[in-house]
Amino acid sequence: MAAPVTPGPSASPAPVAPGDLSGGGSRGPPDPPPEPKQLPELIRLKRDGGRLSEADIRDFVRAVVDGSAQGAQIGAMLMAIRLRGMDLEETAALTRALAKSGQQLEWPEAWRPQLVDKHSTGGVGDKVSLVLAPALAACGCKVPMISGRGLGHTGGTLDKLESIPGFTVIQSPEQMQRLLERVGCCIVGQSKKLVPADGILYEARDVTATVDSLPLITASILSKKVVENLSALVVDVKFGGAAVFSSQAQARELAEVLVGVGASLGLRVAAALTAMDNPLGRSVGHTLEVEEALRCMDGAGPADLRDLVTRLGGVLLWLSGQAEAQDEGAARVAKALEDGSARDRFERMLAAQGVDPGLARALCSGTPAQRRQLLPGAREQEELHAPADAPAAARPARQRPLPAGTVELVQALPLARVLHELGAGRSRAGEPLRPGVGAELLVSVGQRLRRGTPWLRVHLDAPALSGPQRRALQEALVLSDRAPFAASSPFADLVLPPPRPTSTHTQQ
Ligand code: URA
Repeated sequence: MAAPVTPGPSASPAPVAPGDLSGGGSRGPPDPPPEPKQLPELIRLKRDGGRLSEADIRDFVRAVVDGSAQGAQIGAMLMAIRLRGMDLEETAALTRALAKSGQQLEWPEAWRPQLVDKHSTGGVGDKVSLVLAPALAACGCKVPMISGRGLGHTGGTLDKLESIPGFTVIQSPEQMQRLLERVGCCIVGQSKKLVPADGILYEARDVTATVDSLPLITASILSKKVVENLSALVVDVKFGGAAVFSSQAQARELAEVLVGVGASLGLRVAAALTAMDNPLGRSVGHTLEVEEALRCMDGAGPADLRDLVTRLGGVLLWLSGQAEAQDEGAARVAKALEDGSARDRFERMLAAQGVDPGLARALCSGTPAQRRQLLPGAREQEELHAPADAPAAARPARQRPLPAGTVELVQALPLARVLHELGAGRSRAGEPLRPGVGAELLVSVGQRLRRGTPWLRVHLDAPALSGPQRRALQEALVLSDRAPFAASSPFADLVLPPPRPTSTHTQQ
């Protein structure tokens, strides 16, 4: 269980004016600047449960970026924060310090209401950003999305896009502005110019067991969004067996911190709580997920993916004042998927971010089979049958029952772990990935499945799955004797920001 964000000594943080990243400050004659503390002293303070001041946090982040903090010191501070938590003011101060570690993005004033973005806390098979950014652009939004790489067992949007030959995630602020002018959206990575401190801490968290920390997740996500100068942000906070937080209550706590810290920084944030027990959609793995995202932009593809894309988009269009109601916004996003306008924006984004225009065209206009030929694939495929290694299967065929089972669950976590081992994820920062490694679910949750029928197709570069890998995957398939059922939407709840005093919106 992660150490919580706790209310600060003054129950609510001092409000910070929109766009003001300076951290406010007290009125009256300025206090003499406090002596800067050495890093070991800052680490000790947090380790012993103390509170870091705005200046302490700024000094720590400065040392992270200028290289004077050693890796061990960064890891120790992250662990101290992970174990001791941070109050809302400390979390807001960390967010500001990370955001200020690089350049702020400035946009033409006329774009203000259109500037929106979405971020996820990380899931398995989560390709929502690939579809939602171009769909929102097709609805008239500007989406300057600064996204992340895989963290732990979860896949990263940037890694998925980089599986498309030529796609470049590093774009300068000037290039981002041109992308927003010409396409309406871009998906980029943090860099030496953009939130560099988050890049360093993100990699360090991945290898120091400090991913599941409310203040670290909050500051990591919101720092990138503060820099983007948005009108509205929706964060998809996952809960369940394959999410950073398994319980909906913990995820709700994170959602409330994201919304609260966002409000204190002048950022309108809504947080959706969505289930992450099964993979999202039917494909997991970089190129396989790009293919599935394209199917969604064909107006087809799995219902859970389309549902999440349209609902999150609907929230954003409504929150930014571009739709009267969430449902109306969702219907506009759905139309952009059906009429091909989202796919057209995606094609333009690929070409503008370095993909050969001919390849971008062929990918977006091709059939699923043609697309598969255009993206790097894995060397081998192996199908698993349900349930191949169950004890009953070991009996002679004439004694073996042939009942059908209903697919209750395909556990995303063991699936992601095996794919990680096969090269879809990193064990060390900067490690190359195998873009074609992944898995296709051949079944849907709620459907009847005859034992012995193929249910999973694994794409791998190794000659075959190992015994333990095959076993782990077979155990991920949970069958029951229930009647077939319609799988429910992963969308469970929505935490909204406080209404704007002048807002005419009604909260739905
Ligand atoms: N996404 C981020 O950018 N940071 C996190 O910590 C989790 C998800």
